[in-house]
Amino acid sequence: MPTIVTHAAVPLCLGLGLGARVIPPRLLFAGMALAMLPDADVLAFKFGIAYGNIFGHRGFTHSLLFAFVVPLICVLVGRRWFGAGLMRCWLFLTVSLLSHSLLDSITTGGKGVGWLWPWSDERFFAPWQVIKVAPFALSRYDTPYGHQVIISELLWVWLPGVVIMTWLWWRRR
Ligand SMILES: [Zn+2]
Repeated sequence: MPTIVTHAAVPLCLGLGLGARVIPPRLLFAGMALAMLPDADVLAFKFGIAYGNIFGHRGFTHSLLFAFVVPLICVLVGRRWFGAGLMRCWLFLTVSLLSHSLLDSITTGGKGVGWLWPWSDERFFAPWQVIKVAPFALSRYDTPYGHQVIISELLWVWLPGVVIMTWLWWRRR
């Protein structure tokens, strides 16, 4: 995974770029939460579930099915709360959640993502990997490798995110 907060960068930059009239604050926060949600599966390690298991890390919570169904449930339950139309909420939340496994698939390590669960247990990577995979232990961030991880996330996620955000903001001025 990229660092968990880096996953939130995608909905954050998109939402701020589109502005609060298109993406109201509650929808923005829900998008950020959903972008980070798939990595709740690291809890599986605590229960002794292996990485390669579909219920392990980067398994079913990183699947396409999860990325389409969970936003749907959120929209149906919280549609009044988000303050925007159903379709727009679903689209924003789906893009937010889907961005998680896409970013994971371009990291340089770990196992690939289980996009096709429940139809297949296969793990997938994108054709190219550019983001250095983040360590699980926070203590490892203060090492030369940890610094490389932070730099690669700034370069491949935050920088393009800020560029897109600025472009979106500039367009609606
Ligand atoms: Zn992940």
